[in-house]
Amino acid sequence: MTYLDLNTPQRTIMTPGPVEVDPRVLRAMSTPILGQFDPAFTAIMNEVMEMLRKVFKTRNQWAFPVDGTSRSGIEALLCSVIEPGDKVFIPIFGRFGYLLTEICERYGAEVHTIECPWGQVFNQQTIIDEMKKIKPKVAALVHGETSTGCMQPIDQIGPACREEDVLLIVDAVASIGGVDIRVDEWMIDAIVGGTQKCLSVPAGMAPITYNHRIEKVIAARKKVERGISTDDDRKNELSRTHPIVKSNYLDVGMLQDYWGPRRLNHHTEATSMLYALREGLRIILEEGLEERFIRHKEHEEALIAGIEAMGLTLYGDRSVKLATVTCIAIPNGVDPESVRAMLLDEFGIEIAKSFGPLEGKIWRIGTMGYSCRKENILFVLGALEAVLIRHGVAVKTGKALQAALDVYATQKKQSKTVVP
Ligand SMILES: *Cc1c(COP(=O)(O)O)cnc(C)c1O
Repeated sequence: MTYLDLNTPQRTIMTPGPVEVDPRVLRAMSTPILGQFDPAFTAIMNEVMEMLRKVFKTRNQWAFPVDGTSRSGIEALLCSVIEPGDKVFIPIFGRFGYLLTEICERYGAEVHTIECPWGQVFNQQTIIDEMKKIKPKVAALVHGETSTGCMQPIDQIGPACREEDVLLIVDAVASIGGVDIRVDEWMIDAIVGGTQKCLSVPAGMAPITYNHRIEKVIAARKKVERGISTDDDRKNELSRTHPIVKSNYLDVGMLQDYWGPRRLNHHTEATSMLYALREGLRIILEEGLEERFIRHKEHEEALIAGIEAMGLTLYGDRSVKLATVTCIAIPNGVDPESVRAMLLDEFGIEIAKSFGPLEGKIWRIGTMGYSCRKENILFVLGALEAVLIRHGVAVKTGKALQAALDVYATQKKQSKTVVP
């Protein structure tokens, strides 16, 4: 049997990840492989660390990617910080809050959660008050909740955690590179970003950064010097008060020794993915962080105008909407999967469904990174209108694209920068 050449269909990906990858990133991925201790490669590692600090807005020494999808970064931080019996506080407002909970439970944490209805977020003071009552070692929460399209404000939570000596760990997988996040100013102790979302890089790496407070915890749990273990080493292990991290692959202390000046061998760095991440970060810094956030807002505005002009309604509290994910309430009587299938089959457009209580209730359109472009917004609006008409939905015809074009025209008048 012969297998044909890889020949993927043309797609317009308007989901909350994975999104379209910038052609520059794809080209970078075909760069020749270097050995992991080749000075030419370690120089690239250092550049990536430097660029990550800029994107995270931090002066932390430690900023590097974990190899694996975004949850590898989340799990690395959580499993390296949490010891069995530690109290962890998790405010949940969507699916990814449950992921944090599940990971913490696996590593033996005593997890305390609060929940608010999906489509909303917490008042920051509610989180702070609860955190003070629980007195956890760690507070972990999601910033941009991809499942509901809501964004939890977090600027006051870090300072409150610092006062109470609680470590704040944030999942910013869906927001980093699309929405403003200020790690140092907001006193976030550790944070994880995603590559296949607003960075427009394939899935397969999870950029993290953490400060000295986290580093101290990690240092206390370090396995004694690797290599031949001596009697002293064994005695140290027996007398240690902090258990070693239960994962070798995700042990941040070991990752740190590999990324740091000692370059202690751990895993083999994912060469081509690192090239991709480097190019993705370079594109972001070339565009400018603030310009990029404005671009995501501008396309979101056009998309929302089009959806509403069609007569559809958005899902979720608008005042806390995540700019990179737009959730649409599915009109009554429509088969939601048939609409998605027709978008894919006839137009090559992919939009997302949602999970759990929202499955069958909303569609989600992602406007992230390279996918967040005017041509994509206009294409998805036109196609959605056509498909909904085919499904017998009484949309207001001919309005969506005009509304979006009006928004773009106004934006163009107001600023001198032309929306790419
Ligand atoms: C996508 C996403 C994840 C999981 O990412 P994977 O790359 O699939 O592991 C975690 N948290 C949030 C908020 C996400 O949007």
